[in-house]
Amino acid sequence: MYPVSLDVRGRSCLVVGGGAVAVRKIQGLVEEGARVTVVAPVVVEPVAMMAENGEIELERRVYEGDASGKWALIIAATDDREVNRQVFEDAEERGVWCNVADDPEICSFHLPARVRRGAFQIALSSSGDAPFAVARLRRLLERRFGPEWAEWLDAAARFRISMRSLNLAPSQQSEVYDQFFEATVDGERLTARVPTETEEKGWLQARVDHRSATARPAPVSVGSCREARSGPGFVALVGGGPGCPGLLTVRGLRRLAEADAVVFDRLAAGALPTDLAARVELHPVGKVAGNHPIPQSEINALLVRLAREGKRVVRLKGGDPYVFGRGGEEAEVLAEEGIPFEVVPGVTSGVAALAWAGIPATHRRESVQLTLLTAHEAIKGDGPQVRWDLLAKDQHATLVGYMGVTALPSVVERLIEAGMPPDTPAAMVQQGTTAAQRTVVSTLSHLTNAIAEAGLEPPALFAIGPTIGHVNNLDWFSSMPLAGKRLVTTAANPQIAAFLEDHGAEMVVLPMPVTPAARVVMSALPLSGCVVRSRAEVDWLDDEMNNPGWTPTSIAWCLGPEAAARARQRGWVHVVDLEDGIDCDDLVSRIAEGG
Ligand code: SAH
Repeated sequence: MYPVSLDVRGRSCLVVGGGAVAVRKIQGLVEEGARVTVVAPVVVEPVAMMAENGEIELERRVYEGDASGKWALIIAATDDREVNRQVFEDAEERGVWCNVADDPEICSFHLPARVRRGAFQIALSSSGDAPFAVARLRRLLERRFGPEWAEWLDAAARFRISMRSLNLAPSQQSEVYDQFFEATVDGERLTARVPTETEEKGWLQARVDHRSATARPAPVSVGSCREARSGPGFVALVGGGPGCPGLLTVRGLRRLAEADAVVFDRLAAGALPTDLAARVELHPVGKVAGNHPIPQSEINALLVRLAREGKRVVRLKGGDPYVFGRGGEEAEVLAEEGIPFEVVPGVTSGVAALAWAGIPATHRRESVQLTLLTAHEAIKGDGPQVRWDLLAKDQHATLVGYMGVTALPSVVERLIEAGMPPDTPAAMVQQGTTAAQRTVVSTLSHLTNAIAEAGLEPPALFAIGPTIGHVNNLDWFSSMPLAGKRLVTTAANPQIAAFLEDHGAEMVVLPMPVTPAARVVMSALPLSGCVVRSRAEVDWLDDEMNNPGWTPTSIAWCLGPEAAARARQRGWVHVVDLEDGIDCDDLVSRIAEGG
């Protein structure tokens, strides 16, 4: 059964029968502007009334085979099955669509059950198989959809007209429509509201501004121009975790979902939820290649300004906000300015990167003390002094150094000077918990050379102490088949995404349409490639290929010939053909081997 919405305005439709069943059909057609002729020897009161009011033509007689080709539609609704069948057969002979009420077997079309709110209609059909089920479902939806949906749809239609006058590119239009939808529809409760004029103007104006703005570096999205709420806003200092998207906390995720604006560091970029609503303002404030980081005073001022505008702000930082993240300074400014704030701790890299590398931060009897240290202190020395002498003497302790790459030689020198044995186990972990994780294991005296040889780069941290010896047994991550692979797929393939992630891949799951946040996540680290299974996915991704996350070696693993053909048509270079029903383990090994 193929559902359609027919425009019956001004078209001639025949209804045979004038009883209770016919009434509903006649009314339905009349409401939609059809010219209805009713043929029936006797009719119930409402039909007679409609005829009197000139809403329908009424011919009080028995049906005489008049199902001719002049009718756009015919409905047979008499209480005589034989007559109904005759009407159907005549209609068939003349090629006219015919519905027989309550007799789905002899119909060339069915009338769906409807939930109607103004121009907004939901049509339900069981293809004639179980009308009782549909009737009950319709009643349920009748209760769930309130009358406000009619107004909402009118507002949406008006908004569409205003939008069209702006002549925006389809992708931009769709972003604005997302804003409209997300601001006005509560998908959980299935309620809707009409947006205020100010909101509508804001959404449209933001686009016009965006179009006319010349070379604006940051922010990534010009975001929402929702009306500022009265009173001060709110800032959540949220720890984004060490890099693996799954290590953001549940509370952090909730704060992000509620946010109007997100101010994020480079180290936290990968932790943004890819489905963060397009209306949320994104402010990158970290160091991006070639650019200097935004000074702390400007970040503070930005937080204050956004909160003063009444926005719910998330300040997203890598790891934990209070562990070498300057979260304390930002919280102080907020406190001074009287802006309500909260701190959502994060999984700090000093513990997480070790765990991913196979190094327990502490271990019973071996290491009973954990020191987190900023390695810069070894070269700066202008603040409170680190007691290297005490650290050097702790045999049963783990020392973790953040910001450890350039300062490592000075740290090693100080510790050895202070008496730490040069053969103490030591390791450096780069980009722990991400696809770019690399670990070098050595000893205190050799670590500097070892990392130089391996070419480790920041962000990385070092760990010194006896528990490093467990690496050989406990390195669970790098031995996973897809460790090191960073793959894009779309929200259409949730099971594939979960499966590949469970085999070590870092998955970037793109919602369709692609959100600004998803673009930030894509660009956070180089992508090994994508896994796609439909032509449409290829088309969506093709628009995203200028994202800096893609590299010339990125591979498209295509499930099924359709996706592969489309990818080649689009000029993608590294396309791998895989069967759509490929065995999961085969999929993993094909991706692991890179082709
Ligand atoms: N607040 C963060 C630390 C910020 S300081 C936290 O709690 O983790 C930045 C330093 O953190 C980097 O120079 C590096 O030493 C360390 N770091 C952050 N993320 C890391 C990661 N995924 N792997 C290894 N080190 C990391």
